[in-house]
Amino acid sequence: MSIQTIGMLGTGQLGRMMAIEAHRLGLLTVGYGPKSGPLSDVADVTVGPWDDEDALRHFAARCDVVTWELEQLPVATVDILAESRDTPPSRQALEITSDRKLEKEFVQEAGLPVVPFVVSNDNGLSPDHVQFPAILKTRTGGYDGKGQVSVESPPELDDAWNQLDRQPTVLEQQLDLHYELSVIGARTRDGETAIYDLCHNHHRDGILRWTLAPAPTGASWKRDAHQCLATLLERFDYVGVLTAELFVTDQGLYINELAPRVHNSGHWTLEGAETSQFENHVRAVAGLPLGSTRAREHSLMVNIIGEPPTLEQLAEVPGAAIHLYNKSPRPDRKLGHVTICQPEARALLEPGQRLLELVREDPTPLQRLLT
Ligand code: ADP
Ligand code: MG
Repeated sequence: MSIQTIGMLGTGQLGRMMAIEAHRLGLLTVGYGPKSGPLSDVADVTVGPWDDEDALRHFAARCDVVTWELEQLPVATVDILAESRDTPPSRQALEITSDRKLEKEFVQEAGLPVVPFVVSNDNGLSPDHVQFPAILKTRTGGYDGKGQVSVESPPELDDAWNQLDRQPTVLEQQLDLHYELSVIGARTRDGETAIYDLCHNHHRDGILRWTLAPAPTGASWKRDAHQCLATLLERFDYVGVLTAELFVTDQGLYINELAPRVHNSGHWTLEGAETSQFENHVRAVAGLPLGSTRAREHSLMVNIIGEPPTLEQLAEVPGAAIHLYNKSPRPDRKLGHVTICQPEARALLEPGQRLLELVREDPTPLQRLLT
């Protein structure tokens, strides 16, 4: 059956960007989620709770395939839709990646490196196998650094756990990071895969601030990271875009976490790659062949978070591709992003500094990377 209408669970900016790309291919997107959002501007969205079976069955009847743009999604919702529709990328990946414990175990079982960790039980945590300082993270529900507390030494552990309402947690060694990378790739039902160049990601306070791609790293990191992602795509029998966040340390590469969806660190692919992550997800779920993931140029993507500069200020930056999501400003909220592309990485420095100034971000880490 040829796919004409894509059902999107979640109504955020990721869904919006996929719908825009689907639209270019002549495909329609309809959305479903507990509240309207950036997707609602570009697609017909049904607002309803994740457990409204009648509303979900009605929604499924309008779609040829159902996918998602967020991982804060109950597996039970997907199961209802799966009664009548294919639901890529992967129910198993959704279930596993929504829980840091299951995710780390899955990655370990695949023979891939994870940060040393222990899991809490009803009595608390015995941090024997973890060195301090460490980070206590809730197993479920965390994003943008939320649901995490730094723990300098074992005596602080109980207090930290109280701060997280004694939810199930994992305690993870805090690593000395050289830098953070991500690797994003797609897979089709036939098992064809395509993986993008690595992204170099700069976080502050647990939130992604900017991405430089292709990451200016050695070829061996790229080979290893591509191998990791290819293994995971295969093991999940995945259909669509999968992201792995990576840490680079003296000890080598670690997988920090996975996202069963398109990712903020891949926004540069809209202008900077031959086919964007959003289009490749749409292609995969619609049963089309993948497009080339080759980087056209060097890209810098800067997030607009919390308090936005004016559109006029952004528009004055030469070469800026501006994406605003039509969200109301709120501290730490992702409101948009801007990408600039240049044939030479160094040429990103000047416009990049202007952008970072507009979003009140220290330009030093970018300067260090590009000079
Ligand atoms: P989220 O789901 O909020 O993205 P992450 O586990 O990716 O949660 O953590 C957010 C950020 O916090 C990471 O990108 C990294 O900058 C920092 N961080 C998380 N875990 C560690 C760690 N074990 N060692 C060092 N830094 C970490
Ligand atoms: Mg993360």
